[in-house]
Amino acid sequence: MREKSQELFAQSNRFIPGGVNSPVRAFKSVGTDPIFYERAKGSHVWDADGNEYIDFVASWGPMILGHAPDAVLDAVREQLDKGTSFGAPTEIELKMAEAVSAAVPSVEEVRMVSSGTEATMSAIRLARGYTGREKFIKFDGNYHGHSDALLVAAGSGLVTLGIPSTPGVTKGAAADTVVLPYNDLEAVRATLAEIGEQVAAIILEPVAGNMGVVPPAEGFLEGLRALCDEYGVVLIFDEVISGFRVALGGAQERYGVTPDLTTLGKIIGGGFPVGAFGGKREIMQSLAPMGPVYQAGTLSGNPVAMVAGLALIAELKKPGVYDELERKGARLEAGLRAAVEAAGVEAYLTRVGSMACMFFAKGPVTDWSSAAKSDTERYARYFNGMLERGFTLAPSQFEATFVGLAHTDADIDAMTSAAGEVLRSL
Ligand SMILES: *Cc1c(COP(=O)(O)O)cnc(C)c1O
Repeated sequence: MREKSQELFAQSNRFIPGGVNSPVRAFKSVGTDPIFYERAKGSHVWDADGNEYIDFVASWGPMILGHAPDAVLDAVREQLDKGTSFGAPTEIELKMAEAVSAAVPSVEEVRMVSSGTEATMSAIRLARGYTGREKFIKFDGNYHGHSDALLVAAGSGLVTLGIPSTPGVTKGAAADTVVLPYNDLEAVRATLAEIGEQVAAIILEPVAGNMGVVPPAEGFLEGLRALCDEYGVVLIFDEVISGFRVALGGAQERYGVTPDLTTLGKIIGGGFPVGAFGGKREIMQSLAPMGPVYQAGTLSGNPVAMVAGLALIAELKKPGVYDELERKGARLEAGLRAAVEAAGVEAYLTRVGSMACMFFAKGPVTDWSSAAKSDTERYARYFNGMLERGFTLAPSQFEATFVGLAHTDADIDAMTSAAGEVLRSL
């Protein structure tokens, strides 16, 4: 069974808070101990006890090619012999900047950082520095990493663990964060009419992926773009999940709405710790050393991480990749819909490309208040039933299920047929 995992978890608890290095990895909300992994390849992962699973977590998004893809491993091996960090610029970083700028419509210039948290934190600072304004708008249930000002009404682990606001974030740090309901353009309009000239930025997940998967409502992104233009507000798409996922150029390519700044993470690092923020040249030029807004990083643009990301992006640029991801996503959705119908359970399915979510709720789910109506205990039973059958899902109702290029049709069909079995037993 999972004795080794249990033993490792017990020992880890003595040295690591909660036994995990990120709270979303604890299986608290699904009432199980976390599984300790040993290795992974393609669509499969193996745990410390030697159990094999078909994986639909994809390291929370990055593993869009599947685990340990040869193209990425080869690039990394080659770089290791040349050195792992120089603290000086490299041609590899130029290639990465060119690749990101070519792929992502809004990006004229880009800075590399080491996590999504750093990317969003820096983008907010840049928008504030550029506009000389202090407030910004975020949406309830959107997650933008764990910097102080952004940890207000955030999704992901906070909603999973039921932490509405966290101690340690001072009133001052949160005072300039305005929280509005996702997909509610009228609320944004009303807020800007009142305090528009104080608002530096609107930041959002253009496809929300941290309260389950919630697509943008028709006209929402376009409406935000128009309002930002009207009020001189910097529009930031946090595409840490959706970037290179819902299209090569992210949600901005898929929906045809171009923000002023974009934050990236997860996939861009090819499985290494990388984030990036980029956008309009005029705004990016406010950064030091060109401008006065300071931002820095000892390991930023790390050569090993950059070659990994570049190799992954090169794979994603091959013809037909996003059609294939769409097709696999659609196959998963169709299978799950059939399973839900056959079992007669109440569930609301959402999907954008290769990211999907089954809410145990009547729906429609359009924002955090509707997502929050989900039956999380039922999700926990579903999660555990799937795990017993050899399928790993995110240990939370409020996360995405990811399909990747390594999933075969047989993997997907096996998953949806197991889901059918589990749903009937709930
Ligand atoms: C994961 C995530 C982040 C934070 O990225 P980290 O690398 O975990 O710091 C920020 N924004 C979104 C949309 C994310 O999904």
